This record gives sequence, C-alpha cells and structure tokens, in this order.
Amino acid sequence: MTEFLATGQLPDEYQQLAKTVADFAKNVVAPVAAEHDANHTFPYEVVSGMADMGLFGLPFPEEYGGMGGDYFALCLALEELGKVDQSVAITLEAGVSLGAMPIYRFGNEEQKQEWLPQLTSGKSLAAFGLTEPGAGSDAGGTKTTAKFDSGEWIINGNKQFITNSGTDITKLVTVTAVTGTKDGKKEISTILVPTSTPGFTAEPAYNKVGWNASDTHPLTFSDVRVPEENLLGERGRGYANFLRILDEGRIAIAALSVGAAQGCVDESVKYAKEREAFGRPIGHNQAIAFKIARMEARAHTARTAYYDAAARMLSGKPFKKQAAIAKLVASEAAMDNARDATQIHGGYGFMNEYTVARHYRDSKILEIGEGTTEVQLMLIAREAGL
Ligand SMILES: Cc1cc2nc3c(=O)[nH]c(=O)nc-3n(C[C@H](O)[C@H](O)[C@H](O)COP(=O)(O)OP(=O)(O)OC[C@H]3O[C@@H](n4cnc5c(N)ncnc54)[C@H](O)[C@@H]3O)c2cc1C
Repeated sequence: MTEFLATGQLPDEYQQLAKTVADFAKNVVAPVAAEHDANHTFPYEVVSGMADMGLFGLPFPEEYGGMGGDYFALCLALEELGKVDQSVAITLEAGVSLGAMPIYRFGNEEQKQEWLPQLTSGKSLAAFGLTEPGAGSDAGGTKTTAKFDSGEWIINGNKQFITNSGTDITKLVTVTAVTGTKDGKKEISTILVPTSTPGFTAEPAYNKVGWNASDTHPLTFSDVRVPEENLLGERGRGYANFLRILDEGRIAIAALSVGAAQGCVDESVKYAKEREAFGRPIGHNQAIAFKIARMEARAHTARTAYYDAAARMLSGKPFKKQAAIAKLVASEAAMDNARDATQIHGGYGFMNEYTVARHYRDSKILEIGEGTTEVQLMLIAREAGL
C-alpha cells in the first residue's frame, strides 16, 4: 500500500478486495441491517457470509488458515462494511484485531495452532476482555486476579462491555488479570479462557444506544481454572501487549469510522438530489451543498490519516501518534457527518429504518471505544513532548 502514497492509486488487489466487500455490503448486509438493528439480533448469516469470503483471515498467513493479506486489507474491508452497517463492521474488527490478533502476535506455536485456524476461518469468535467496571481508560486499574496454584490459573473478577463475548460461536475470551506484584507494582498478564470453562459467565447482553446487532456483554469469572499453558505471552507483559493491540486497533476503528462518514455523504448526496422543497431539489441550496462538501472533506481527510498510519505500521515505523490521530479525526468525522446527514434528511432522518438514523446512533461509540477521544489527545500530546 506504500505504492498508494507514492502514486495516489491503490494497487489492483486492494481495489478488487474493496469492490468485492462493497458488493457484499450492498447485496447481503444492507437488506437485513435495519431488521437486526430493530430486533437487537446478532447477524449470524452475515457473519457466516463474511467467513466464507475469508474476511476473518485477511491479515493472517495461510499457514494459520489466513488469506495472506495485511492489516491495510482488513481496514479497506472495514471501511466498506462501515458505510452500510457499523454493527457488522465492529463484529469483524473485534473478531480479527481483538480476538485473533493477540494470539498471532504473542502466542506460542501450540496456542496459534489450536486457536488461529478456527478464528481466521470465522467458524469461531474470540473476544478481548480488558475493560472492567472500575478500569476503562485507566486500564492499569484492573482488579481481576489470576492466582497460580498447582499448575493452574484461578481467575476471579468482572469485565464489562466486551464485544463478541456471548455469541453461539464465541469460543474464547482473552483477559487481562493481576498475577502478582513486581517492584511494588501490579503485575498484569494475559490469559486465554475458553468460554466452556466452569465459572465463566457471559451475563445478559447490554441494551445499547447503537451497534444493536453487535454482541456486547458483562463477564463474570468465579474461580475459573485454566492450565498454566493458557498464559498468553510473557507473564507480566499483559499491559504492554494490549497497548500494542490497541495501537493497531485504532487504525482499524479509524477505517470503520471513515466508512461511516462516507456512508453519510453518499446517502446525503442521493437524498439532496431526490428531495424537493420550494419547487426544487434541496441540494440546489448552497446551505445543503456546502454541508455535504464539508462532510466529504472530513471523510477524505480522515481516510488520508488512516492510510498514513497503516503505511507506517506496515513499513515497521513507529505509528502510535499517527494511529491516535487517525482514530481521533475519523471518529469525529463519523459523528459530525452523521449529525449533518440526519439534518439533511429532515424528519425522515429521525426514523430508525433510515441508514443515516442508524449512523447517528452508532457513531457516538466510535469516539469512546478502543480509547476515548480524550485518551487519543493524551497520546498525541505525550508524543509532542507534553
Ligand atoms: C459497545 C462497546 C463495546 C466495547 N468493546 C470492548 C471490548 O471488546 N473489550 C474491552 O476491553 N472493552 C470494550 N469496550 C470498553 C471501552 O473500550 C471503554 O468503554 C472505553 O475505553 C472507556 O472506558 P470507560 O467506559 O471506563 O470510561 P472512563 O475511562 O471512566 O472515562 C469516562 C470519561 O472520562 C474521560 N477521562 C478518563 N481519564 C481521563 C483523563 N486522564 N483526562 C481526561 N479525560 C479523561 C474519558 O475520556 C471519558 O470521557 C466497549 C465499550 C462499548 C460501549
């Protein structure tokens, strides 16, 4: 994709992928999006379609059942899905970047062989449990514990707001837990918990403002016992490892947000040409045309920001600041565009079956999940030396 930065043109294989996912979004996702949103149902048939297309394996090597692509390919797919249905896009994003990626990045060969083929094929989903009732932005406030006893980790605690954690195909939750103290500080490690383990419970799903077709639960761990081998990565490296996962994940969330922002532009252009008021299409008023021009500018700027962050990541350069900038501007572009698109649609924009109404409810979480707007600003300020 670095070729793109030099020529302004995406290589053919990326263009082809984007087109294939765009067709799938239009023909398979869009027709059922409003219904799943209204009924708060998980779109199993859509997830199965994404699995058949290999989307859950996009950035993983073929030896683990992946498609042999890269993280930018995943971002392009998320952008196309995000235009049409953010619930479906976040299901893919969380399944890949929070579910499978920690195992690919930090797992040993045995863990990779056991988990990756089922996750990259999309037959199973994994979730990542970091957030707790008292520890979100301040994730170091983790209270969940994992005590080592006779060759087993015994896990106790609660996680909250965990995506993909309670579906019929969720087989694994990776959790951060305090495994002791080192130099007077909490030692946080990451542990793999198969969802069939006694003592693990996915509590009833949340009633959310948006992302209604995405699966989100609080989790309870009561004397959950898993073998010593389920430690993921080095003991005590849990905090550092999840920071790396979140840095990457922010580029993916930025791509999804750009999709939402662009989806709002596309719907608004269509509507502004069709809808007539005072004897002419509303788009003939500059007040409307300029609003749409500003929306297009936001989507374009945010897309450039995530392309840049992805290019740096893929070429092995530091990308923390660029990922935070991309997440910041893209999530704000999505929210701002959703508000403007709803305004352009007038009363119809307030009706749930309209795509822009869904974007209006769905986009707010983009400014909160995988690091709030304030957390991105903290990271950018820190990188600037403040
Ligand atoms: C639908 C959904 C899905 C999610 N999926 C997952 C998941 O799969 N896995 C997972 O682990 N988590 C998940 N989350 C949790 C999400 O990442 C957290 O909600 C988010 O990180 C914020 O944490 P918090 O809710 O505890 O808010 P808090 O951290 O309590 O923040 C509250 C407010 O205070 C601000 N704030 C906090 N500290 C500062 C500071 N130092 N300076 C300035 N402002 C500050 C925040 O920006 C925010 O505005 C999900 C959340 C939702 C709603």
